[in-house]
Amino acid sequence: MSTSCGYVCKYTPVAILAGFGVQPIRLSPRPDDAEQGSALAHPNLCSYCKALICSMQHHDVDELLLTSCCDSMRRTADIVESYGDLSYLRVLDLPHCGSTCAIERYAAQIEQVFEDYAEKTGHPFDLDAAVASIGTKAEQPRTSYLAVAGARMEEDLYRHICEKSPIPVRDLTCTGSGGVGPVPPEAHDSVDAFLSWYAGALLGQTSCMRMSVPDDRRELVLDPHLAGVIYHSLKFCDFYSYDFTQLTSQLTVPVTRLETDWSEQASGQLSTRIDALLENLDVAPVGKDSPMFGFASSPIPGERPGTHTHPFFAGIDSGSTSTDVVIIDETARVVAHVVRPTGAHALESARSALDDALAQATITGDDLVSTIATGYGRAGIGVGDAEVTEITCHARGAHEMAPGCRTVIDIGGQDSKVIHLGLDGSVQGFAMNDKCAAGTGRFLEAMARTLELSVDELAQMGTTWKEDIALSTMCTVFAESEVVSLIAQNKRTADIVHGIDKSVAAKTAALVSRVGGEPDYLMTGGVAQNAGVVAALSSKLESPVQVPDDPQVCGALGAALIARDRMSTR
Ligand code: ADP
Repeated sequence: MSTSCGYVCKYTPVAILAGFGVQPIRLSPRPDDAEQGSALAHPNLCSYCKALICSMQHHDVDELLLTSCCDSMRRTADIVESYGDLSYLRVLDLPHCGSTCAIERYAAQIEQVFEDYAEKTGHPFDLDAAVASIGTKAEQPRTSYLAVAGARMEEDLYRHICEKSPIPVRDLTCTGSGGVGPVPPEAHDSVDAFLSWYAGALLGQTSCMRMSVPDDRRELVLDPHLAGVIYHSLKFCDFYSYDFTQLTSQLTVPVTRLETDWSEQASGQLSTRIDALLENLDVAPVGKDSPMFGFASSPIPGERPGTHTHPFFAGIDSGSTSTDVVIIDETARVVAHVVRPTGAHALESARSALDDALAQATITGDDLVSTIATGYGRAGIGVGDAEVTEITCHARGAHEMAPGCRTVIDIGGQDSKVIHLGLDGSVQGFAMNDKCAAGTGRFLEAMARTLELSVDELAQMGTTWKEDIALSTMCTVFAESEVVSLIAQNKRTADIVHGIDKSVAAKTAALVSRVGGEPDYLMTGGVAQNAGVVAALSSKLESPVQVPDDPQVCGALGAALIARDRMSTR
């Protein structure tokens, strides 16, 4: 059985391993390892490294070859070494650039690995096997593509992006995927020639954020085929925040950032971010039949072209808290709107909300030319002809409700989103809350419970405060204790509510600034009915935040309008 050596970084000289008959294995630890790895490492170590440490206990590899790409990786090596059950562990000192001097330094490091293995295995180096193991560098795409950049990404998530993307996806993360070949003929001549070529070829790959101001980042920014970027970062990894900020300030294509903790949690939110970016790419789908990009295949279920004297269009927003339906006619006039609790059965709620809306409009399902589903539950309800994310739908709905609006602030039951709009209503950028409840309707509901108020009472009280109380935390759990202690101090309920509202406003304003939001601000979603939050947010943003009539149905209205828009452009 051949020895196997685990590695992580794309700059690892894996061909040396192959030349000595050692099998290189790129490590992609399982998400549940991150959870268990927490017990083995400091909480602030990144989740990938925690997962890596834990995965070492499965003994999937005999050896480990790491690079000093970050502090977490060095600490990982220390912890793994302390187990003492690997037969080889080396951390290569990775240079910060691809200069001639850096290549020489890295060549010396690679030679060290070469000598280690020559001594350890006692085998001669098989140059042909090393050369054969080197894949050919992927060609620069000549058509539109989506780049996945930033930190290494969990494989299932990457696969999800590839499946959903209407255009090819290029992996530019720090682990990357491509080869560095072809190996030039002169590097075949001798081991020395091969080693000195190999260091340069490895350092010549599309740089990770570990490299300093690389030219190829400029190439990426200027690449006319680059249609969008999904930027992945890992929790507790600061490097990527700087890199992301720098990259986004240069890019003109849509970008979205996904931060994960190497777990499978919050996949709904991740998928909304990915889908919203894909919906807003300015490209034609390549060889894919994606329902997100409209009605790729005819006939549409339920559609009977030509039989409608008065066509109607429906939008269904299946949210975590409410299910909202809007029906419009061909002139975009709203003929029915319904809001009802989602409850425990999203599908049944969606069907009955649609039935109620049809009854309100005095039409039947046969009169609907097209129905689009949106919201958190859009994929699960199986109602409608296509799905569109709530980002795109809220943007469309908000542009219709208030054409001058440049920033949509949507706070619903479990998430809050801020969408920056262009003058034409197009999505320029968006940001969503993390998977915690801070700054969402759930947070307000929890605070209302603690204060023994209804959500309505909480909403009204926020405008009658006298003392300007501030909560020191945004975390739902800690805020609850803080509210309890304010009650014990006999603070007025209205003043405590104001502190709560300011905390939601602060969290939301941070999202506004993340997307470069600007007036006019329009607030949608159920929390827009909370006058205290609206006032606190207006004050924080130093600009009035407008609230449309029926803010809760903005997403459903947008979905209905998109259904109508798509039909008229077919
Ligand atoms: P989702 O889209 O996630 O289903 P909604 O947009 O329906 O969420 O918003 C639900 C939230 O709106 C609730 O958590 C509640 O805090 C808030 N909300 C609903 N109705 C009111 C109201 N009348 N006054 C103040 N807040 C409200």
